[in-house]
Amino acid sequence: MRIAVLAVQGAFEEHEKVLWELGVESIQLRKASDLNKEFDGLILPGGESTVQGKLLRELSMLQPIRSRIQDGIPVLATCAGLILLAEHIAGDDTVHLGTLPVTVRRNAYGRQLGSFHYANGYFQGIGSFPMEFIRAPYVESVSDDVNILATVEDHIVGVQYKNQLAVAFHPELSGDYRIHEYFL
Ligand code: GLN
Repeated sequence: MRIAVLAVQGAFEEHEKVLWELGVESIQLRKASDLNKEFDGLILPGGESTVQGKLLRELSMLQPIRSRIQDGIPVLATCAGLILLAEHIAGDDTVHLGTLPVTVRRNAYGRQLGSFHYANGYFQGIGSFPMEFIRAPYVESVSDDVNILATVEDHIVGVQYKNQLAVAFHPELSGDYRIHEYFL
């Protein structure tokens, strides 16, 4: 198995490290031609979604990645990655990949709660999971066929829709690899 990690901006190295520790080969997607390489799954890391979206457009990677996702390649998206996938961003007309039928709210916890650790988050099918939130979004609403996998204080922070698994937090920073294992 080989997993491609989007590596234009953000916390991609942390995902590569988790994959390495799990004994899974990874490649970086930095430019459009990298998408011609073979891979079985895709990770969209955290970072800054506006910057990532802009780079994906400039590098002509947005449409090919969207097509791969629509064709069914498994995706794990964290934080900014979730924003890239969302069909709607609250209060913003921007759509990046737009393959995940949810509305997401960026920087949703305000300034004071910009970053926090939620020690006992619950992730469906996994159980208690330590969740790191960094200027995180949450999912404000989902279409009926989206599975809600995690909520924190009444906010949706983990969803799955067909081949797309998306979380508002950073499992790659928690030292707990069970969400990556679930994805793999
Ligand atoms: N605040 C970032 C955004 O809006 C996401 C933060 C993150 O990925 N940790 O894109």
